[in-house]
Amino acid sequence: MRYELIPAHNPGPYTGDGNNTYYLPGATPVLIDAGTGDPRHVDGVAAAVTASPGGALTRVLVTHGHADHASGIEGLQARWPAAAAAKMPWPEQDRDYAASWSPLADGDLIPAGDGALRVVHTPGHAPDHLCFLDELSGLMFTGDLVVSGGTVMIPGSAGGDLSAYLASLDRVLRLGPDRLLPAHGPAIDAPASIIQSYLDHRQAREDQILAALRRGVDTIDGLVARIYAGLDAALVPAARESVTAHLEKLRSEHLIRCEADRWRLN
Ligand SMILES: [Zn+2]
Repeated sequence: MRYELIPAHNPGPYTGDGNNTYYLPGATPVLIDAGTGDPRHVDGVAAAVTASPGGALTRVLVTHGHADHASGIEGLQARWPAAAAAKMPWPEQDRDYAASWSPLADGDLIPAGDGALRVVHTPGHAPDHLCFLDELSGLMFTGDLVVSGGTVMIPGSAGGDLSAYLASLDRVLRLGPDRLLPAHGPAIDAPASIIQSYLDHRQAREDQILAALRRGVDTIDGLVARIYAGLDAALVPAARESVTAHLEKLRSEHLIRCEADRWRLN
C-alpha cells in the first residue's frame, strides 16, 4: 500500500516533533488522522490530493479522539466537504469537535488507497483508540499505540486503562504486522521487539510500585517521588497519570486497595 507522511506542524511537549498524518493515494484517497487544523497541514494534504489521480479526499480515518489527532477535522471538511470523518465513538470527547463522525468498529474493513484497511480496536491510551492494518502488505497505522524511542502515556484519570493497553499490545504482537507507522516519531520496522520492550518496561514499573508499597510509600505523590526521582516538574503530572494507571490495574487485580487516598497491599 502506498502512503505519504504529511506532518501536522504541531510540535510541543506532548507531541514531540508534531503529529504524523498519512495520506493514502489511489482509488479511495484517505487521510489517517486529522492534525490540528494548521494551515500548513491542510496545504500539505491539498498538495498530495492534487497530485494523485481523481483529486478528491474521500475519508479521514481518526485513530482516537485526542485533540492532536482529531481537532483538524473541521478545517479538512471545510476544504473537502464530501470527505467523511470516521472514528470509533467516544461521546465525551467527540462532542469537542464540530463534525458528524461515521462510527468505526473493531473488524471493519474500510476501502482505502489502492486496497483496504482492517480496523483493530486497541484501547488503553484512550478508550476509542484504533489501529488500521493493511493485511496484504503488513503495514499498520498505529496512532499512539507505540512511539519509537519513547513510551506512551496512559492517562489513568482521563480514559486511560493500563490493563486494556497491555492487552492491546499483546493483540498487535499476535497480529504480526511487518511495519508500524505511528502518529509520533519514525516508522518501526521491528514491531515485535519494540512491543516486547514496552511489555517489559511496564512490568518493571509495576514491580517498582509494588516494592515501594511494601516499604510503606502509600500516596500517589510519594510513589512519583520514589520512582521518578529528579523528574522535571513539568513532567510530574504525566508521571502521576502513569502511577494512577498502574494502581488502578493492580486494584482491578485485587492486589491492592485504596482507603482515604492511601494505597495498601492486600
Ligand atoms: Zn493520544
